[in-house]
Amino acid sequence: MVLSDVTVEEWIEKQEFKSTKDVEVPQKMSDRVIGQDRAVDVMKKAAAQKRHMMLIGEPGTGKSMLANSMVEYLPKEELQDIVAYSNPEDENEPRVRVFPAGRGKQVVAQQKAQAAAQKTQKNSSYMYACAGIVILGFLGTILLSNYYILFISLFAVMIILLFARNPVMTRNDSSYVPKLLVGHDANDMPPFVDATGTHSGALLGDVRHDPYQSGGLETPAHNRLEAGDIHRANKGVLYIDEINTLRMESQQSLLTAMQEHKMAITGQSERSSGALVKSEPVPCDFVLVCAGNLDAMKGMHPALRSRIRGYGYEIYMRTTMPDTDQHRTDIVRFVAQEVRKDEKIPHFDKFAVGEVIKEAQRRAGRKGRLTLRFRELGGLIRVAGDLAVSRSAGIVTRDDVLAAMVNARSLEQQMADRQIESSKAYQLFNIEGAKVGQVNGLAALDPGTGMAEYSGIMLPIVAEVTPAQVKDGGKLIATGKLGEIAKEAVDNITAVIKKFSDKKMSEMDVHLEYIGTYDGVEGDSASITMTTVILSAMENIPIRQDLAMTGSLNVRGRVLPVGAVTAKLEAAASSGIKIALVPADNVKDVMIRNKYYKTMDVYGVTTYRDVAEYAFVDCPEKTALLERLLPLNPDGKSTA
Ligand code: ADP
Repeated sequence: MVLSDVTVEEWIEKQEFKSTKDVEVPQKMSDRVIGQDRAVDVMKKAAAQKRHMMLIGEPGTGKSMLANSMVEYLPKEELQDIVAYSNPEDENEPRVRVFPAGRGKQVVAQQKAQAAAQKTQKNSSYMYACAGIVILGFLGTILLSNYYILFISLFAVMIILLFARNPVMTRNDSSYVPKLLVGHDANDMPPFVDATGTHSGALLGDVRHDPYQSGGLETPAHNRLEAGDIHRANKGVLYIDEINTLRMESQQSLLTAMQEHKMAITGQSERSSGALVKSEPVPCDFVLVCAGNLDAMKGMHPALRSRIRGYGYEIYMRTTMPDTDQHRTDIVRFVAQEVRKDEKIPHFDKFAVGEVIKEAQRRAGRKGRLTLRFRELGGLIRVAGDLAVSRSAGIVTRDDVLAAMVNARSLEQQMADRQIESSKAYQLFNIEGAKVGQVNGLAALDPGTGMAEYSGIMLPIVAEVTPAQVKDGGKLIATGKLGEIAKEAVDNITAVIKKFSDKKMSEMDVHLEYIGTYDGVEGDSASITMTTVILSAMENIPIRQDLAMTGSLNVRGRVLPVGAVTAKLEAAASSGIKIALVPADNVKDVMIRNKYYKTMDVYGVTTYRDVAEYAFVDCPEKTALLERLLPLNPDGKSTA
């Protein structure tokens, strides 16, 4: 595997296709899955053996697509139709019969036709009887000159007609026709049933409530049966995403269904008349594919999980793939796939595709990788397509994709934009000059689940030093709703400060305030920022305000890598920052947009001494501090 050594611009220039119209898209869904080769292999194996699967991974990486493509590998011949019959021996236990695919529909249709024929036959016999009586009535009246005979005959006809309309008499015609619970056509693919977020009735089957429970008007029980997703997935795939949100009892029933391969349909609502009904067992021989993120495993019934482990496969989906020529070609195909799937947007010219590949690099967050979070990338493609449609263009161009990136910012990114705007407006941070006890930190908004990218924000911190309230009892007081990890980070940095400052922390209280953090602060990525602002306040050294930083710090003064560096740096650049410090180990992850490289320099820092060199304004106190920090960089040089 060799990483592409040319830029996307050069690479795309050399490609032969003009637009995605020239790019072929595979027929089979499994061949359209990109970057999850191992998962596809395991899926094929699982399908051949009819094993269950658990797909764990980030949203939009192809879990449901993979589950869906499993049906391409399951045997078609086994498909079954399921029909429910009334049971004359016990009305509340409808019978269940299985037919080869396509037969069920025929059987029900035949019986329906028969019932209809019977009904017409019966109706015509009534008509003949009535006609006969009327004729006899007339004859009797004429022959015996007695009008009473006509009246009596008409009365008899009325009685017969009333009788014919009585449901008790007619019911056994149509309502006893069997009901098709699950039906297929002979050539159907095995079913793929997505049962994500369904309630237990929809999942396990249900019996409709009958408002007329007696008196000859009731619907027979077999006619009120509703197949559940487990039955409709018989001989196919049952897919459940976010399996942890399924109630424990439902998970338990699911497990039973998996073990027995059949499950009776019974009323799920205890108070309805359906609760009396319990059908004969209905086949539900499905392959279960459940999916979720890592949290999903916590909410999962342990027995269900162990069933899948014991009788199936667990797969952890990938979120990035190496940036090779082949994989760039895969992204080209991805754009073609999404355009064809959408049907409403035009094809992309090759330079537009180039921009999508660049975005895939950027979203991967690491150099030499491409993102596999395709749902969001697909979102970008659709927005770009809509823009082309709105200007009545027949093809999507590079400009459309660039405009889409601005339009398609996620909710979190828009919030971050707004926060930067308002912080700027209220001048919560400075971007020029120097100041003691104020520093520009960088943070990322938690993307939560389902989000494509982190969004960065500026996180200014101010520190103020006051004499300790109690003798020998200096405290570090941090406000801004710190989370657990952030609190620990505060403890860690005091070790560094104690070691390298010549002021005694026990003689002073340090107040630390995170500005504008209404939602609290979590994580340790502000360690170097906090250390800097505290040292600045304690030692009276001004900090450059055109500089921003992010980085974690261990107790020995080494700067450790942090997450979401690209997003943080873009927030810094768009706020007008000129210099940004990031952990040296993160430098390779930096993928900020070209326009920002022109306005901001990014430096990697290895130890806290590097941070101090860049961040503090030159002055005798800084020189003294750097001297004390020398043991961190023994050769005396900055490693940055
Ligand atoms: P998940 O189930 O992991 O949340 P989906 O399978 O529903 O993700 O993906 C949503 C859409 O994103 C798919 O319909 C497809 O268009 C695209 N997609 C996701 N993953 C892939 C992939 N690995 N290869 C190609 N397209 C993908």
